[in-house]
Amino acid sequence: MRQSHPSHPSHERTLAIIKPDGIERSLIGEIIQRYERIGLKLVGVKMLVPTADLIEKHYTMDSEWLLKTGLKAIKGYEDKGLKPPISDPMKVSEKVLKNLVKYMTSGPVVAMVWQGAHAVQIVRKLTGSTEPLMSDVGTIRGDYVLDSYQMSDHDNRAVRNLVHASGSIKEAKDEISHWFKPEEVIDYNLYEEHIMYDVNMKGILE
Ligand code: GDP
Ligand code: MG
Repeated sequence: MRQSHPSHPSHERTLAIIKPDGIERSLIGEIIQRYERIGLKLVGVKMLVPTADLIEKHYTMDSEWLLKTGLKAIKGYEDKGLKPPISDPMKVSEKVLKNLVKYMTSGPVVAMVWQGAHAVQIVRKLTGSTEPLMSDVGTIRGDYVLDSYQMSDHDNRAVRNLVHASGSIKEAKDEISHWFKPEEVIDYNLYEEHIMYDVNMKGILE
């Protein structure tokens, strides 16, 4: 019996978005392959050019994001022994948001819903940490892009990190309903789910 009840861990879902630089660099297939080959299931996908409103709401759904991001950005400079260009965290994140809106509305993106056990954590792990300079080798951001906060801040633009991935189960739920209508996310079975989730592996012997 496959574990088909919606409360089973294999039903966890997360949102990933291939950002405009990923599209421009023809990395759609490469990125999808990385999530697919680990055993996650693509249950929703669409290409669109986002509006500024969609992006602004996406980042500010979490009311603490602006403060957290501002503080994190300032700490990032201090940890590297550098003086942050702006000292007010809210001003820092306002600038980050403005640049993100410009970046994310500059062309098409591919928004995807991925499903599977620990989908949120797995997609984050495969995507790599936010700043490409620090992302591990073997992750999408670590393998395909060489950007840094230092360079993107210097040029007053968003860091080009190829992909967005939800940071927590709650964030994933909110973000999926922000980007997808319920009917755009489809329930179906993969053959390989028998191998991954069946309690009793029946084996292949005839
Ligand atoms: P993610 O979940 O890994 O995308 O990271 P966050 O949710 O913390 O941040 C969302 C986006 O804000 C990132 O993809 C970056 O574009 C931007 N961002 C986050 N932290 C910083 C920072 O310290 N400096 C700058 N310049 N941008 C940041
Ligand atoms: Mg995030």
